Amino acid sequence: MSTVTDFINLNLSAIHDNNKLIAEYIWIGGTGLDLRSKARTLSGPMDDPGKLPKWNYDGTSTGQACGKDTEVILYPQAMFKDPFRRGNNILVLCDAYNPLGDPIYTNRRYYAAKTFGHPDVVAEAPWFGLEQEYTLMEKATKWPLGWPQGGYPRPQGPYYCGVGAEKAFGRDIVDAHYKACLYAGINIGGINAEVMPGQWEFQVGPSVGITAADELWVARYILERVAEIAGVVVSFDPKPVPGDWNGAGAHTNYSTKSMREEGGYEAIQKAIEKLRLRHKDHMAGYGEGNERRLTGDHETANINIFSWGVGKRDVSIRVGRDTVKEGKGYFEDRRPGSNMDPYVVTSMIAETTILWKP
Ligand code: ADP
Ligand code: MN
Ligand code: MN
Ligand code: MN
Repeated sequence: MSTVTDFINLNLSAIHDNNKLIAEYIWIGGTGLDLRSKARTLSGPMDDPGKLPKWNYDGTSTGQACGKDTEVILYPQAMFKDPFRRGNNILVLCDAYNPLGDPIYTNRRYYAAKTFGHPDVVAEAPWFGLEQEYTLMEKATKWPLGWPQGGYPRPQGPYYCGVGAEKAFGRDIVDAHYKACLYAGINIGGINAEVMPGQWEFQVGPSVGITAADELWVARYILERVAEIAGVVVSFDPKPVPGDWNGAGAHTNYSTKSMREEGGYEAIQKAIEKLRLRHKDHMAGYGEGNERRLTGDHETANINIFSWGVGKRDVSIRVGRDTVKEGKGYFEDRRPGSNMDPYVVTSMIAETTILWKP
């Protein structure tokens, strides 16, 4: 008896020998958070995303076009190995343009790429380490995985980095995602169970410039795909359950060349001061609904008050003890919510700290 799995695992090497492969084109849809993708067969070994063909889709079906001209053009920007189809098959991260060649209004990558292409920014080689927190939800109830139906688990405490059937829920999904990201070629640094049960984190980076955001988007895509197979829903809501439960963030760890070199702590102080002056602007770009998360409780700072500290977690910006001790290193912007757009957050941080002259 054959199963669907037999065919999913069909060996495509004869097709690869003919230089054919499957390319899954990925893009961001109209909400700015929904991921979309579709596949096509390409000829020839693919090693450079710049040589991949452009493609198009119907923008009315993704909430990204109205009126007569609904065609949106996909420009390939980054390429990864496809952990689902394997072999020579690839994932292709794209951004989106109208037929005249202008970026469509949801294309935040375009502007981020401008910032990261600026010679002053290139010279500072900005590194980002992105901590992506997320919550796994039962598909039928949209209630966190492992929680009693319509009720609550025991209070927070035992779940952070917890092990055991009453503490860790969804580990196979998390681990499958971790391995799939490594296979794809994403610079994923690790995973851990979070403070709220059913909530997890993975880290991308440190990666240079726009690469960090590209990798985070593809890691999110792979997570959605793995969870789809498991029949579980991924929530990037910054406060998935109101009340005495931790929210979900996307702490953004950051350093420039100046910060990593001798005397770097001074560069870090200057950058933090600039971030303080632009606190309101940054909060506007750090994710929808983040005010439900940044209350001042649950390891957050109040959304309206900029603060920073060494080794503290109830602050906007945390500097690690190692950085202070060594006089150089990096800092952590704890404000971004889990649903932030990494193109917006990383490019804002680079713009404010490197390009902006107050
Ligand atoms: P936390 O203690 O806040 O949970 P994590 O270990 O989850 O920290 O994440 C720390 C992140 O910082 C990692 O993604 C790591 O790659 C990143 N990182 C380490 N060094 C640097 C650096 N010099 N510049 C930017 N990011 C860095
Ligand atoms: Mn972390
Ligand atoms: Mn965390
Ligand atoms: Mn953190």
